Amino acid sequence: MSKSKSSETVKVVVRCRPLNRKEESNGPAGSIVQMDLRLGQVILRNPRAPASEPQKTFTFDAVYDANSKQRDLYDESVRPLIDSVLAGFNGTIFAYGQTGTGKTYTMQGVWMDPEKRGVIPNAFDHIFTHISRSQSDKQYLVRASYLEIYREEIRDLLNPNHANARALELRENPETGVYVRDLTSCVCKSIKEIEEVMNVGNQARAVGATDMNEHSSRSHALFLITVECSQPGPDGRKHIRVGRLNLVDLAGSERQAKTGVQGERLKEATKINLSLSALGNVISALADGRSSHVPYRDSKLTRLLQDSLGGNAKTVMVATLGPAPQHYDETLTTLRYANRAKNIQNQPRVNEDPKDALLREFQKEIARLRAQLNHRKWRNKQKKEQVDGEGWERDEDGETEGEEDEEVEKEAEEYVKLEEQRLEREKDAIREDQFLLAEEKQRLLGEKERMMGDLRKEQEATEQLTAKYKAMESKLLVGGKNIIDHTNEQQKMLEIKRQEIAEQTRTEREMQQQMLVQDEETLELRETFTSLQQEVEAKTKKLKKLYAKLQCIKAEIRDVNDDHVTSRQELEQTQNELTRELKFKYLIIENFIPPEEKNKIMNRLTFDPEEDQWKFQPLVPAESKSLQMKKRPTSAVGYKRPISQYARVAIAMGTHSRYRVSMCVVVQDSIKIPQVLNLHYNRDEGSVQQKLGGLIVHILLRPSPLTCVPCSGQFVHTQMVLWSTTVDML
Ligand code: ADP
Ligand code: MG
Repeated sequence: MSKSKSSETVKVVVRCRPLNRKEESNGPAGSIVQMDLRLGQVILRNPRAPASEPQKTFTFDAVYDANSKQRDLYDESVRPLIDSVLAGFNGTIFAYGQTGTGKTYTMQGVWMDPEKRGVIPNAFDHIFTHISRSQSDKQYLVRASYLEIYREEIRDLLNPNHANARALELRENPETGVYVRDLTSCVCKSIKEIEEVMNVGNQARAVGATDMNEHSSRSHALFLITVECSQPGPDGRKHIRVGRLNLVDLAGSERQAKTGVQGERLKEATKINLSLSALGNVISALADGRSSHVPYRDSKLTRLLQDSLGGNAKTVMVATLGPAPQHYDETLTTLRYANRAKNIQNQPRVNEDPKDALLREFQKEIARLRAQLNHRKWRNKQKKEQVDGEGWERDEDGETEGEEDEEVEKEAEEYVKLEEQRLEREKDAIREDQFLLAEEKQRLLGEKERMMGDLRKEQEATEQLTAKYKAMESKLLVGGKNIIDHTNEQQKMLEIKRQEIAEQTRTEREMQQQMLVQDEETLELRETFTSLQQEVEAKTKKLKKLYAKLQCIKAEIRDVNDDHVTSRQELEQTQNELTRELKFKYLIIENFIPPEEKNKIMNRLTFDPEEDQWKFQPLVPAESKSLQMKKRPTSAVGYKRPISQYARVAIAMGTHSRYRVSMCVVVQDSIKIPQVLNLHYNRDEGSVQQKLGGLIVHILLRPSPLTCVPCSGQFVHTQMVLWSTTVDML
């Protein structure tokens, strides 16, 4: 399955957006980010530090400043990746950065403006242009999916009911890695179609959100494209290569404030951050190179992108920065994050003839439909020739392509037409036959009618089969055939030149960076000193340089330490909150849930390693469910529904309070003495609240199967209330 196997690092590029109007009007402080495009360096100025403090410099594979063009970023940094995907590699592009720094601008841009189209629309153009220009012996199948991860839930943006649908699950396949189960995947035949898919997804994303900015800054959007290509190999067999491309617009990387947040809100905040912090941990573990455990399983995002980080994929990370002084800290964090990602090693390889290639299935299905269709047509042709009185012999080699195919089709159609005419004639003859009895006439006419119906049915079936075959075939793109390339030769030349220039810029930058490193190393070796004085001067200069470097590194260590301390404090705080909540839950379990009930629940729990979480086993095994459910609960013998002891007594006593709630056991303070509460419930309101010593009891009567039972009894059943009782400390 694997072909060329080599290791390569994650490519990291940094982009800084221009100052916006608001930032410009904030004063003359200007940008804190400077870029050296030639060397691929970012120089960051700390607006709060004295001028004497050295500035921080980071080096990346490429940097793009405020004046950078979308096209340049694409040609230099993304095009080679898409080319690899078209050759059968897996590829991933991440946009990482604080909200408002241009992640979505970089990934999507302004669709209507050709100058401002981002990575995704440019990739669409690139893929389909490549197909249209490839040789005609290649067949392609392009599929797209669009999903979003929000609060650790995966949502399918192409499913029309995604807002109501259950969150999707991740599954693992030893062959192809981690995938999303039941994810919608659309076959796309042209740029227009794939753009439509993107649009549908973007709209679905916006519909679910009350505040789109807020939502997009907290959710991760993944657009997935699979390109399958089949081509005859030297052995004469068709080989399939599958390239998968992930285009990822991550949630805003800014720290979510967790301080002072409790309960549900805390959980929400932790979940929103989870995928990003897990991504950070994975990057750290991989960059470190020493840790044996990489925590991919900590979040949905890292599991889904496992291959892109340290696995079988080529990866480009675009880190986006804002130039405003007030965001210095976030900008520095982004740069450090990006700097770490540079060290990740991937092992990309071509995915050749994987078992799950859809293209292979399509080809098989097309061949099957074709054979079926040919069989039908030959059969009709044969009948026609029998009608015509000609002898007929079937071609043994079965070659029915091209003209011969068309001829068969024509003859088959002709046969159907002739048959119809013949039947009509026969019917007329029967009607006009004077010697036949009326009954006999009717029977013969009916028979002919039936034959006509059969003929029509047969024809319809053939038409359906043809339509299915054509629809199936049209999904496959044949190199240079299905999509017409409108670019003229001159434009093509221009494109090639532009790509060459981008390639050149890239190699130039790499060489410059290498030279810089080598210069520092060999400076000493090359220097020969004529006098002691000169040597002292040179060495002092060097000492100063090294001293400055030392100071930089010391400052860096201080910063990293500070950072570490803050995140540690935050984690400790989160841990405290979670421990408190856990204790509270334990308290409730210990005091409110009878031990035998608890054991029952514990026995039903099983760990699902796929989902990485604990799950309940169903009460009744799935196969016997229907049988068991039909039985009446033993407590309900003689009654319409299960009913509590208290309610039975109350009925016997004749107390007439239709919606009285019985036996709601709440325990006070040290939670020892049970109390029986009688709460009056108004059906229209749907909930009750009652103060009880130091507690507030909320009772929510949610619709449950029990409430659906026609209520001829007097009481709402106890269980129904207890299921939805929550207790708050005052
Ligand atoms: P994010 O997705 O990171 O939250 P956006 O992509 O929505 O940020 O960008 C925020 C704003 O900045 C948008 O109005 C966008 O047009 C503008 N912007 C971002 N990057 C650039 C850029 N390189 N050039 C011009 N405008 C940009
Ligand atoms: Mg965005």
